[in-house]
Amino acid sequence: MNIKKKIRLIVSLTIIFIPFFCFALNIREEIKERKIPTYLIENNSYISLKSLLKILGAEDSWGRVEDRVFIKHQDMEIKFKVNSTQVFIDKKVEYLAVPVKEVEGEILIPVDDFSNILSGVSVASRISKEPSFKEEKIVAKSKNKSFIILIDPGHGGSDNGATGYYGLKEKDVNLDIAKRMKEYLKKELKGNTGVKIYMTREEDVYISLPERVQMAKDINADVFFSIHTNSSLTMRPDADGFETYYSGIKEELVFLPSSPPGEVLDEEVKGDTSLSRILEDLNTTSAVDESRILADFVQERLAERLLTPDRGTKRRGFYVLRYTPMPAILTEIGFLCNPNVELNLRDAEVRQAIAESLAKGLLDYLKFRDVI
Ligand SMILES: [Zn+2]
Repeated sequence: MNIKKKIRLIVSLTIIFIPFFCFALNIREEIKERKIPTYLIENNSYISLKSLLKILGAEDSWGRVEDRVFIKHQDMEIKFKVNSTQVFIDKKVEYLAVPVKEVEGEILIPVDDFSNILSGVSVASRISKEPSFKEEKIVAKSKNKSFIILIDPGHGGSDNGATGYYGLKEKDVNLDIAKRMKEYLKKELKGNTGVKIYMTREEDVYISLPERVQMAKDINADVFFSIHTNSSLTMRPDADGFETYYSGIKEELVFLPSSPPGEVLDEEVKGDTSLSRILEDLNTTSAVDESRILADFVQERLAERLLTPDRGTKRRGFYVLRYTPMPAILTEIGFLCNPNVELNLRDAEVRQAIAESLAKGLLDYLKFRDVI
């Protein structure tokens, strides 16, 4: 067979097989792509039954009798029960590692187990799916109320944060970028009076972490956005890249715990959660999901503009993320212990580019939530 024929054969085989590959159901992939909220219960990730029906394209072909759920998907019947680990696919039984749950009338499906069980199932509705699916149970407020953003430049006053090899201080970088971000947002939002932007500090002053959290609560912020510049514990000059954090858990406390003593790597909270009430209700887990979505938008925008390594979005219980009840992220824009990065951060154009990327990520989120 000559080369042209070979290519033609490969092309036609690809055309025949691509649809089958595309339609193989991958729940994890669908969740990511459609930005479906997930709920974390005892370290297991769940989605609502409604979301599962959307993914399967089975919104009109399911039923519920007390705690039993029946889903008709193409020629197949899927049956399961609240608080049970059994799932019947047609007549065949499969077992989940954790049971299906019901919380406040909402049936929740364990993601990992269902992904595995349904991985062999094809989904015909894939091609006609709606372009983006937005859960309505969301933190964003109705349009006639203001949407409040609190930008938090990390450190300040006696707390320098990280210090670079040539002496540049993290607190100054954070504040400058925060101010530029606010200006850019104001410009982009023009006359939109529905969005209000505040900062935890506008000058070089010390504010404790509990005070920052309290401020977010007092002004009833919808988004808490913390800006930091990283440093490795050992001041490694080759440490490089940017990352955005969100907390995997939110805690509600009547009295906020005092700040942990200053660490090089910011404010990670360690240890005792026994005194605190870990919230598992849907509202709070949805603030976790929202934080993750916002973090993804911001990280993507930084990746578009920065040439340094993309270290991704990560979960971590930083104080200001854990104790703020609203969606909250903390972005580390680069490593100050890296002399090259330090030199770049001295350049106002670089700081402006970073500030604009952060603002664009936030604007993406506001658009996604129909705030603007
Ligand atoms: Zn910091």
